Amino acid sequence: MDNYLQKAYCMHQTVRIYAAITSNMVRHAGEIFNMYPSSLDAFGRCLTITSIMSCTYKNDDFINVIVKGEGPIGKITVEGHDGRVRGYVENPGVYFQNNNGTINIEMAVGDGEIEVIKDLHLRQPFSSSCELVKGDIATDFTYYFAKSEQIPSSVGLGVLFDKEAKVRAAGGFLIQVMPGCSDEDITILEERLKNLRPVTKMIEDGYNAEDIINEITNGDYEMLETKELFYECNCNKERFRRGLKTLGKEQLLDIKKDDNCEITCNFCNKKYTFSKSDIDDMIKELENEQ
Ligand code: ZN
Repeated sequence: MDNYLQKAYCMHQTVRIYAAITSNMVRHAGEIFNMYPSSLDAFGRCLTITSIMSCTYKNDDFINVIVKGEGPIGKITVEGHDGRVRGYVENPGVYFQNNNGTINIEMAVGDGEIEVIKDLHLRQPFSSSCELVKGDIATDFTYYFAKSEQIPSSVGLGVLFDKEAKVRAAGGFLIQVMPGCSDEDITILEERLKNLRPVTKMIEDGYNAEDIINEITNGDYEMLETKELFYECNCNKERFRRGLKTLGKEQLLDIKKDDNCEITCNFCNKKYTFSKSDIDDMIKELENEQ
């Protein structure tokens, strides 16, 4: 499996742990959008946490994670559904370095807020938001879960780059404390988390998802499931065609004045071309529908 997640229980099934390896997904996203390290670091972390979150809800629930930072990266959008994610950032070309040469993500993301929209197939999608407290995405989501979902959680996320600024590895974890967890177990867990190495270090040492769970739980866990994760865009020409048609006849006539009409998908950078005769067909269809 290229990208995957493992889910486990610990502390007498009162704590849920999800650990994910998303190296190929983040590398792929970096390539399709030609991203610079700070942008890709932030985007990669958002892809990882969204892919994990999409596996914590029921299979047919859709989530939309929007990090609205005021830093140069701008808005980061990621959609997730059952381990499948896709997204984009406003500015893929941001690269800030710290004095020690590491990639700076906090400045690149900046202050702002996280919004999570969940379509749980109720009458209206459910939306919750909270402010960005650090800009490293991991601390921000830890805060989000505590504040907006009232679930005490801990989030670790990381993207590791090599000397040529290419993605070497990416991944993360989400730990959620369920009701019924004893104070004693919480204290043990808190102590462990205090001493936990950054997830990037674990990934650097070649840890897989189970190794990360093993390190967090000190070997005391119960493995539940393994799930494959994907970067996947389900766009197609027909969908863009329908979108174009909704612009109406006047606008389409305007579009026809140019050469072929080319539309690029925000989520996968795929280009769709509509010729003048394609546009003519749409206009005819609109006239017939009247
Ligand atoms: Zn697409």
